[in-house]
Amino acid sequence: MKLVSATKLPPVVDPQVVWVNCLRVIRPAVGEQSFKTWFEPIRPIDLKENTLTIQVPSQFFYEWLEEHYVNIIKRAIVTELGNSAKLEYSIIIDQGNGQQQPFTINIPQHKSVTPSVAPGKVAPVLNPFDRKPISPVDLLESNLAAHYSFNNLVEGECNHFAYQAGLSAAKLPGATAFNPFLVYGGVGLGKTHLAQAIGNEIKKLHPRKFVLYVPCDLFVTQFVDALRNNQVQEFTNYYMQVDALIVDDVQFLGGKEKTQEHFFHIFNHLHQAGKQIIMTTDCAPRDLKGMQERLLSRFKWGVVTDVQMPDYRTRMEIIHFKLRSQGLDIPENVVDFLAQNITTSIRDLQGVLITLAAQASLTHSTIDLPMARAALARIISATQESEVAISLDAVIKVVAGHFNLRPEQVCQNTRKQEVVQARQIAMFICHRYTKHSLKLIAEAFGGKDHSTVSHASKAVTQKMEADQVYKSLVDAVKAKLNIRHK
Ligand code: ADP
Ligand code: MG
Repeated sequence: MKLVSATKLPPVVDPQVVWVNCLRVIRPAVGEQSFKTWFEPIRPIDLKENTLTIQVPSQFFYEWLEEHYVNIIKRAIVTELGNSAKLEYSIIIDQGNGQQQPFTINIPQHKSVTPSVAPGKVAPVLNPFDRKPISPVDLLESNLAAHYSFNNLVEGECNHFAYQAGLSAAKLPGATAFNPFLVYGGVGLGKTHLAQAIGNEIKKLHPRKFVLYVPCDLFVTQFVDALRNNQVQEFTNYYMQVDALIVDDVQFLGGKEKTQEHFFHIFNHLHQAGKQIIMTTDCAPRDLKGMQERLLSRFKWGVVTDVQMPDYRTRMEIIHFKLRSQGLDIPENVVDFLAQNITTSIRDLQGVLITLAAQASLTHSTIDLPMARAALARIISATQESEVAISLDAVIKVVAGHFNLRPEQVCQNTRKQEVVQARQIAMFICHRYTKHSLKLIAEAFGGKDHSTVSHASKAVTQKMEADQVYKSLVDAVKAKLNIRHK
């Protein structure tokens, strides 16, 4: 056994020193670019009783760190401060009153301290380092983040029904056909936002109701803890007194028989008592794995609806909305480029915007297209790989071959339908999947105007969204060029 040296230095209590040491571990683990974007703007501001508080520039920044880097940060902090280390975020929040006067809130907030925040502005978020078993203090804490609202959820065809149904359920919780209300869809398409917005709306319209938001994995953890501590009855009682229960990412119940059983009882109790239940899942109920049939059938008692990736127009709207609300300014051609190219999720869209804003402020430069392309390529890294590989000539040749045309024909000035179609698709692929500028692409097509290329690219994007057959046609050409990503 190693003896502790008598000359051992006293423990470090300076947050700055602790954080710098953490960064030494974090930097090589995340890579230089991510480090610059996501770690350099962080300020360590406090260290008390093994709790390090770091200040981050926005709520989104915090969410991004939590989603992408939580394990790395956790490892670094535990190495520095030991196993009981905790992390608190202090977030600078724009009050949204146009004055850009920032104020700071802590996440999670200390329960005994009145937050220095306008009432209802921000609610605590669970700290993943601090998953305590439920105790009476947690009662009546909704666990909602107040920045999720219907006002900042852009409505489009992609979420129209879910949005309206959610609003109806919020107006008359438990008393509409939307009970239970289940929203499903891919990652980053706004399910959590909608579910939390419903919760906040219920709280606003019905302040006496007990709304509870719980991520399903937390529900599972709490149940396992309760089981271990002989507190299953308390656990069940706790959930049974809720007026509106929001369970996010219900797919996490899959394969967890015992938790499902208790969820089933809670569900029945609440539903019979006319309480509102809101759930989200990452896929349609029929595709959920490891879920008991009786639970699945209950999910369908109310309304099941999906959210989808927004179309180009809604993506433009979302970007403009985010820019306005965050006081950011990005040239219109970059906005258009992002709306055309980010087709994976709204989270990615938001990620690129924040990366760009962070980069611009760090390097004191204005955001332009090359910067946007680079940010996009980092987030959707697969794009980058094939961008390098495909040449403009190769695209023209392959597209021509697919439509039984000669490459020169694709570039000719003609309005013949089959040529126009091939040319538009070729331009779209060049624009979207190669690194070349619009000008260069236009030249490759026989010296056309570069606006022809962006027009064609936009037209193809829109047609693909509207017409599945057309989309398969473009996908077939992409496959010939070995382009596998979206
Ligand atoms: P999910 O739960 O489906 O994975 P989230 O609700 O976490 O997705 O959404 C990801 C991010 O995108 C969030 O920051 C959210 O605020 C934002 N977002 C999603 N949909 C919209 C929308 N329609 N309008 C504005 N922001 C949106
Ligand atoms: Mg979610």
